[in-house]
Amino acid sequence: MILSCSQVVYQMSAVNAPALRIPDKSKITVQTQDCFANQLNSDKQKMDALDWERINPATGPLYIEGAMPGDTLKIAIDEIKTAGWGIMAAIPGAGVLGSVVEESQIKRIRVQENTAWFTEEIHLPCHPMIGVIGVAPREGGIPCGEPGSHGGNMDNTKIAAGSTLYLPVFHPGALLAMGDVHACMGDGEIMVSGLEIPAEVTVTVEVLKNITIEDPMLEDKHACYTIASHEDLEKAIFTATHTMTKILMAKKNLSLNDAGMLLSAAGNLQFCQVVDPKRTVRMEVKKTLLDRLI
Ligand code: CA
Ligand code: ZN
Repeated sequence: MILSCSQVVYQMSAVNAPALRIPDKSKITVQTQDCFANQLNSDKQKMDALDWERINPATGPLYIEGAMPGDTLKIAIDEIKTAGWGIMAAIPGAGVLGSVVEESQIKRIRVQENTAWFTEEIHLPCHPMIGVIGVAPREGGIPCGEPGSHGGNMDNTKIAAGSTLYLPVFHPGALLAMGDVHACMGDGEIMVSGLEIPAEVTVTVEVLKNITIEDPMLEDKHACYTIASHEDLEKAIFTATHTMTKILMAKKNLSLNDAGMLLSAAGNLQFCQVVDPKRTVRMEVKKTLLDRLI
């Protein structure tokens, strides 16, 4: 099954009509536009060429049969194939360096054989990842550029091939949508763009019944992660840490103090992004300590 990147939404919401209905345990390939809706393609373009109404398109939504509020959606990321070139941008006022960026700039970057040609001399290894992936939120509509408990624009470098993402289900069918793939991105995403690139993402979705989670969680070969987003970075840090503490207490039969001390000794608090309307962080625990989240 393939879902074309012509079927996009700009906000995640329960009112979005499903682009496709798929059975539980389906494998599907989702084509994605880049975060600029493929509007930028040359170093010579200026940022004002951009229609800001069309930012962060997410392909979907997918209605997953059987998914009901209170369930958890398990999304195994099987493969991410990127296009042959991508775009980065510098925008005055945007991101960590926004106050010192004087002029907007667009940079077109060639991506070949898993290498990004940042300049003729500087070559980067690609680690393709999904910037935007989420379900219809509990209430109302949330622009795809914003992260939250429903997922959304988490810009988490660990949401990559081989990892498994868990999202809460708030509405029948979950209404999963995704986009904003990056060929590479540094933790923090300090200039507000990764190496933005069209892609084809293959995922396998599964509905987990009788398991309810509050916020996204992630697992890869090496580690388990809790994820939280908030306007206030401190609050995002508290939520990601507290959620992991509760998991450790339940799975390892630890007191809150012991779970906290274990995280203080061996948990890694990491930035996903610090530049979107809400900041996103994750708490990492290696699989040698915690072999699974669910
Ligand atoms: Ca993003
Ligand atoms: Zn992006």
